[in-house]
Amino acid sequence: MSDVFGEMPVVYGMYTPTGEIRHVDSVENGRACNCTCPDPRCGQRLIAKNAGKKVIHHFAHERGSCSWAVEYLISLLAAEAIRSRGCVTFPTLSYYDAFEGADVVHADSLTIPVASVELANTSGRQAPDVMLTWRSKSGEERTFAIVFQLVHRVTEEQVARLADVTEGVVLADLRADMRRALREQDRHADRNAIILSYQNANYLWGVLSNPRSRILRWAYNATADRLHAQSVRRMEAAEEARRKQAERLRKEREERERRERAEREAHEAKLEEERKRSEQRMREKERRLEEARKREEAMRPEHYHEFLPQMSVLVEQQDRPATDRFGRRWVKCKVCGKVAPEREFSVYGGQGSLNLGICFTCMRGQG
Ligand SMILES: [Zn+2]
Ligand SMILES: [Zn+2]
Repeated sequence: MSDVFGEMPVVYGMYTPTGEIRHVDSVENGRACNCTCPDPRCGQRLIAKNAGKKVIHHFAHERGSCSWAVEYLISLLAAEAIRSRGCVTFPTLSYYDAFEGADVVHADSLTIPVASVELANTSGRQAPDVMLTWRSKSGEERTFAIVFQLVHRVTEEQVARLADVTEGVVLADLRADMRRALREQDRHADRNAIILSYQNANYLWGVLSNPRSRILRWAYNATADRLHAQSVRRMEAAEEARRKQAERLRKEREERERRERAEREAHEAKLEEERKRSEQRMREKERRLEEARKREEAMRPEHYHEFLPQMSVLVEQQDRPATDRFGRRWVKCKVCGKVAPEREFSVYGGQGSLNLGICFTCMRGQG
């Protein structure tokens, strides 16, 4: 039993002769009340303390109070209050929208007509659960549960059991409310008065019909779960789209880089090719210059003797031009018999004397 709550007197007992629930003021005083604890699993005899004005009337357990009697009574009284009014007020329904990253209100607090109210042991708590049936205009029936938390916390497992068979589970958290009331009690207030005030159909109806009640909240709601699941799918779809977009951008970037690299390599290859061609041209030019230099060197008269053995023979025939390996024509002077390149000659060639002429020296001598 909770340290704060301690001994919990009750204001109703089960009247043994009839099995009905009776208020402490409608029975005999003391052990003559003929009442037992309303929780059948406790079943202790109760002692009615309903005489005198100093003490607030209540039942005491014969062997000390049990832990579930108060919650047991509250379920009974709440079910009766809802049954007699034929309606109940559900708290605001909100859900966590994963796509928006925020809590979203789906429906404001709503008062609904109740087709039936039953007590059940679905959650596995020792106090019964209040099961409601709401019949829509189209005749469709939906079941909801209200579970009260006071001395004993409502566990996730208990909510899950109720969720299996309902559209929603409303948690009425009287625990925080009573703890606050007990802490704030002034010296003169009777602690029992506070505890007993919760065992009151009018008080409970006040909680169950207040659209702004902070005591009621959804511990489970099928619609909220469905909306949350939808928002998760929306968020996942958005993430998938973002992922694909990033993938597409990555591929485009890689393709662009690949193309740029290929262009750069092609450009470098072209430069290399041009460089090689340029070198080739330069070598060719050097080779030609060297050739020309050699040729010029060979053209000098002091080198004529190198050609003379071969050219002296060639100039003797007149069928084809006598040329040396540099392509120079050689001619023989008809006057002095000198064999030399054509530039040494004033005239040469003609029918039958292709390689014969008159050198400048002889021409001047004749002139
Ligand atoms: Zn008891
Ligand atoms: Zn001559």
